[in-house]
Amino acid sequence: MKRHLLLLLSTIFALASISLIIIQISQTKKSVKISENLFNISVNNAIDEVFSQLDQMKVEDYVSQTERYRLQRYRRIDDLNEKMQDIIRQNSELFYDEQRVMFGISTQDSAFAQPGIHLSSVEENALTQYNTLLNARNRLIGTIRNTKSRGNNSIDIDNAIDASKLNFPLLDSLIREELIINGVDITPHIGVLLADADTLLYCSTSANPDDLLNTAYKYSFHPHGITPDESLFVVLSFPPTPMLLSSDTNLYTLISLFMILLISLLFIFSLRTIYSQRKLDEMKTDFINNMTHEIKTPIATISLACEMLEDESVTSDSATRLNFINIISDENRRMRILIETLLQSAKMSRKNFALNPKEIDLNSLVLASIQNFKLTLQNRHGTIETHLGDINGTLYADDLHISNMLHNLIDNAIKYSDREPHITITTRTEPGVAIFEITDNGIGIAKEDQKHIFEKFYRVSTGDVHNVKGFGIGLNYVSQVVALHKGKISLTSEPGQGSTFTISLPLE
Ligand code: ADP
Repeated sequence: MKRHLLLLLSTIFALASISLIIIQISQTKKSVKISENLFNISVNNAIDEVFSQLDQMKVEDYVSQTERYRLQRYRRIDDLNEKMQDIIRQNSELFYDEQRVMFGISTQDSAFAQPGIHLSSVEENALTQYNTLLNARNRLIGTIRNTKSRGNNSIDIDNAIDASKLNFPLLDSLIREELIINGVDITPHIGVLLADADTLLYCSTSANPDDLLNTAYKYSFHPHGITPDESLFVVLSFPPTPMLLSSDTNLYTLISLFMILLISLLFIFSLRTIYSQRKLDEMKTDFINNMTHEIKTPIATISLACEMLEDESVTSDSATRLNFINIISDENRRMRILIETLLQSAKMSRKNFALNPKEIDLNSLVLASIQNFKLTLQNRHGTIETHLGDINGTLYADDLHISNMLHNLIDNAIKYSDREPHITITTRTEPGVAIFEITDNGIGIAKEDQKHIFEKFYRVSTGDVHNVKGFGIGLNYVSQVVALHKGKISLTSEPGQGSTFTISLPLE
């Protein structure tokens, strides 16, 4: 898949996911808002119901003498209002006909027949009755006002509810009961607030007074339809809940968020697979290019050396001849090792691969391997220092693979050095294991590459630092050999400082 197509797909997916998440969030917000509204309506209904229940109870149970006096008057006003409404209802054709009847601007004004309109005697009668009741009601309201304006010695209608006589436990339990009936299953804190003094006359246990003083759930205390006097309030507060959503909505939101997460994970997984596939493709192409180069170069060198050997003027000098023969054998050996590593690595990938273990002498194998690099080291003015300790125990291993392994590690130590290579090889015994350690003064390996160094075809992209050709197969092969021998391999390296590969192989 092309890079820009991948980018386009990823962008589309990211945009689609973000849109989905935004839609989901706004839906959830809407649901929360609706739930909040429903909750508020339920609370309001519950409080209304409590007030109407208080209405139906004996007034004496919860109000003072003065309050009763006020209530009486309000009741009479209510009665008169009711009767006036009855008259209007019974004579609706007259009262709702604006052509014939006119009301004053305020509710205290009488009703009149429109000028020049003749009403029947029944209608005249209804109008008179209505106006009589209206006058009676207005007079009653007047007396309440007068009483109020007379000052402290008289009955103060507005503050007539004697708060000290309120039956708080009754109020509390009524509110709780009604809230449950109205589907509010969050336990409330309840209080009664005297607004003028900003003090709570009552506060349910465990309630936080500050919450109650500042709550939005504040209901003017007006049982039995009395005009709210705005001084006494029933206040409620609810403990904070994570989300005022129904369990269904919560479930759907969770499921859809989970789905979005799942799809995103799947998409990321697919992208990663596509990317790693691309990387593998690139690695394979690199591998074929390098392979061609690696084989072409020695073939070209060998054929050039052969041509030179055919030249009699060259072959006459034995030193020059020997030099060309060395070149041929060196290049030949390189190709052989290369092909051997490739073949062995391919073999090892098969399931039925089996080692051919026998007792081996690690130090001898190390010395033999070093021999193969004498010429290369000479050319690069390099050295190999050995500290070969006693191996106390028997090492059962496949000598062919162990030799290839040593060869690869020494080869890398020389190859990946941008100066004269100085290599140290140490062998020693630690409890139950034989240790082989190779340290170089090469270019080193960065931390992020160290994680991948043993993967097949992985090569550090060193760009222009050095142009060493390779396949990224050597260290993978080495790690497979170690694993098959139930050993361990570790690497410590610092870019520019060199690297140390440590291999431990179990002893019998
Ligand atoms: P190749 O040498 O064929 O590229 P290897 O599997 O042997 O493949 O090594 C993989 C990569 O690890 C190399 O490309 C090189 O960048 C890095 N590497 C291996 N050995 C060393 C070392 N001794 N010093 C620095 N880099 C190394």
